[in-house]
Amino acid sequence: MIERMAASCGCAGWEGTEPHHVASFPDAQFETLQREDLGDHHGAIPHRGRLRCRTCGSTFGYRSELSSTNVTRESEIDRVIAALREGKRAQVGGGRCFKTYVIEDGQPIMITSDDGFTEEIPITEARLREAIAVDRSLFLDYLRVWQR
Ligand SMILES: [Zn+2]
Repeated sequence: MIERMAASCGCAGWEGTEPHHVASFPDAQFETLQREDLGDHHGAIPHRGRLRCRTCGSTFGYRSELSSTNVTRESEIDRVIAALREGKRAQVGGGRCFKTYVIEDGQPIMITSDDGFTEEIPITEARLREAIAVDRSLFLDYLRVWQR
């Protein structure tokens, strides 16, 4: 499912692929949440990372290569996964039987707790995305809390 917000904000103009390398995104428009440099080619530094629009709060993943720059608006599920990668934990269910989702060293893990007995089960990112989609409103609540 592709989620789009009304394209009234200037950040929408940055979405998509452009045939050139971007040295830096305009500070007035974007806050850089994350940046990883991908080598140095005679002073031109390809990089990738995440951006947040200062006006509307939308977040974007980007990858700027020497020949092209790709900027993709993140869905809510992408934002939940980014938060888990940063070390956040999400518990689903309550009482004596619940699951906790974490990402450790890039590996999504489902920790099941059943009457005090816990088990860590590595899962694929696809399975994690499914779990987030199933309990979407709960994970969106977590997102709101995490972003405070
Ligand atoms: Zn915006």
